[in-house]
Amino acid sequence: MDKYIEKAERTHNLTEAELIFLLQNQSCEEELAAAADRVRAKYVGNGVHLRGLIEFSNICRQDCLYCGLRRDNKKIERYRLQENEILELARKAVGYGYKTVVLQSGEDSHFSVEVMTRLLHKIKLLGLAITLSIGERSFAEYKAFKAAGADRYLLRIETTNKNLYTQMDPGMSFENRKTCLWNLRKLGYEVGTGCLIGLPGQTIQSLAQDILFFKELDTDMVGIGPLIPNGDTPLATAAKGDFGLTRRMVALIRLLLPEANIPATTAMETLEPNARIIILQSGANVVMPNVTEGDYRRKYALYPGKICVADTPAQCRCCMSGKINSIGRYVAKTKGFRRHLPAAYSQAAKC
Ligand code: SAH
Ligand code: SF4
Repeated sequence: MDKYIEKAERTHNLTEAELIFLLQNQSCEEELAAAADRVRAKYVGNGVHLRGLIEFSNICRQDCLYCGLRRDNKKIERYRLQENEILELARKAVGYGYKTVVLQSGEDSHFSVEVMTRLLHKIKLLGLAITLSIGERSFAEYKAFKAAGADRYLLRIETTNKNLYTQMDPGMSFENRKTCLWNLRKLGYEVGTGCLIGLPGQTIQSLAQDILFFKELDTDMVGIGPLIPNGDTPLATAAKGDFGLTRRMVALIRLLLPEANIPATTAMETLEPNARIIILQSGANVVMPNVTEGDYRRKYALYPGKICVADTPAQCRCCMSGKINSIGRYVAKTKGFRRHLPAAYSQAAKC
C-alpha cells in the first residue's frame, strides 16, 4: 500500500506535501477510496443519513461568480416560499422518514430573525433535526436561530485561498466568512463547511490547504462539490470540476476527519451518472435528497443539469434507498449527529 495512504488510515494526519502527492496521483485513487471506505465503516458505520433538502428561496443579495442565484443574474425566475409552504414541505419530509431537514436559500433578507425563528419553532415541533444553509449572518442572528431550534449550519468556505475567494466572491470578505464559521462553532452548532473543486485558478496546493482547514476547524460535516459552470454567470466558459479529483478529495477528507458526516452531493452526479454511489463507497455517509416540489426545483438553479428536477420527492426517497441497499448499506434511522469518539484520536496520536 502507498505509505501515505497507510499513514493516513493509521494516524488520520497528513502534511500538506503528502496531501498534494495523493491529490495529484490518479493511480492511487482506488487504493485511497478503499482506505477511506474502511475508515468510514469503522468510525461512522454502514448507515447512510438522508437529509431532506428544502430550497426555500432563490433570492440572493450576493454575487458569487459561479452561482446561478447571484443577484446580477437577470435570467433566473426568482421565488420565495411562504412560511406555510416551507412548513408543509417539512411535514412531508417527516412522512418520507427523514430525520433532518436542510433549509437552504440564497442570502434573502426577507428571512429576518423574526421570520426564521417563528419557522424554526414550528419545524422543531415536528421532531426534526434542522440544518440551516442560508449564508452569512451576524453572531446575534446565529444565536437566535440556535435558540429557536437550529442544530446545524452549512457554510462552505468555498476556497481557503484568500485571493481566489476575493476574486470569486466579489463584495464578500474572506475574514468574515471564517469569523462566521468560528461563531457557529462557539454557539454550539454542528458546523459544516466545504469547498468547490475546479474554480478557475485553483491549485492542488490550495485544495490540500482546504482539507487542513477543515481539520483545524474540526468540522462536523464536510460538503464539497465540483464546479458546474453556469451559462448565466461570469464563469459560463470555465471548465467543469474533475470527478476523479473530487473523489480523491472526499477520500482524503474521510481519512483525516474520520468521524465527520460527509455527503455525496448532487453536483457530483451532474458530472458522473453513478457518482453518489461511487462517492458513498469512497468515504461519504450522507445523501441530501431534494424535498422541494414542482417548478421550484428547476428554478433553484445554482448550476445547470441538476439531476432529478422532474422527479417528485417521493421518487427521490425511493430511488435513494434502493441505491443505498444495493451496495450493502442501509438508511439510518437516527438523526445522525456527529459521533465524538475521542479514543480514536488519542489512539491515533500514539502511533
Ligand atoms: N447561499 C448559501 C447557500 C446556497 S448556495 C451559501 O452560499 O452558503 C450552496 C452552495 O452551492 C454554495 O456553497 C456553492 O458551493 C454551491 N454552488 C453554487 N454555484 C455552483 C456551481 N456553479 N457549481 C457547483 N456548486 C455551486
Ligand atoms: Fe448567493 Fe450562495 Fe449563490 Fe453566493 S453561492 S450567490 S451566497 S446563493
